[in-house]
Amino acid sequence: MIKKKTDFVTLLFFENLLKHQEIKHFISTRTGGFSTLPYNSLNLGLHVGDAPEKVMKNRKRLAATMGIPLHHLTIGQQIHSGNVAVISEELRGKGCGHHDEAVKDTDAMVTNVPNICLVILVADCVPMLFFDPVRNVIGVAHAGWKGTLQSVALHTVSAMENGFGSSPHNIIVGMGPSIGPCCYEVGPEVISQIRTIFPTSTEYILNESRDGKGYLDLCKANLDQLLDAGIERKNIEMAMKCTCHNPDVFFSYRHQQGETGRFGAGISIS
Ligand SMILES: [Zn+2]
Repeated sequence: MIKKKTDFVTLLFFENLLKHQEIKHFISTRTGGFSTLPYNSLNLGLHVGDAPEKVMKNRKRLAATMGIPLHHLTIGQQIHSGNVAVISEELRGKGCGHHDEAVKDTDAMVTNVPNICLVILVADCVPMLFFDPVRNVIGVAHAGWKGTLQSVALHTVSAMENGFGSSPHNIIVGMGPSIGPCCYEVGPEVISQIRTIFPTSTEYILNESRDGKGYLDLCKANLDQLLDAGIERKNIEMAMKCTCHNPDVFFSYRHQQGETGRFGAGISIS
């Protein structure tokens, strides 16, 4: 990933997506915004208890930095599911100003409509950006452990295939910063579900203790889903940055024990 510091905000970009001039994309960080503790400072989430006017100032600043109109930002009411929404022209800008108006019950979005910036909000979950330069289709998804179990990454690729005729071989993916196996301790109830859904994958749970806890590698599980979906490894760029280990740069739900903001991952056909 490439880091760029502007007058106010610091943004991250995937090198594989930057090669394509026909799209814009970003991963935001927590620096350069208006929100105060514990949302300091570029919190993009309207649903986390922060002052809405500050969140809107943050979103406007991010949009201006990217050269994207605020009303192009299109956001979902994320529920940790495997659901994917196909975003048509009429849905442009849903959720850009009010959480109630965000696209309902979805954790991933795909579109081929220009000037719609699909945005996913995260604080430890794995944010993923997708682009098929052949069919000119974009997608976003986020996966925590629940979304991973429900194969949200796989469903996003399927939605690009079924809705727009994308071939997985052409799809480029960026996996952004998320909580790493260094920090993501989970309990036996999560581990047993992971084992049920992925019975042959032993490498997703690390350092299991006698009391049944272990450390979950969300990135590895989602990488495998993308490879299973037919995406080529050379087309997947991984940030490999732990949000919980870098709480000064990223919002981390685990690090701040639930009281925190959200950073964003967005992509738009310009
Ligand atoms: Zn870590």
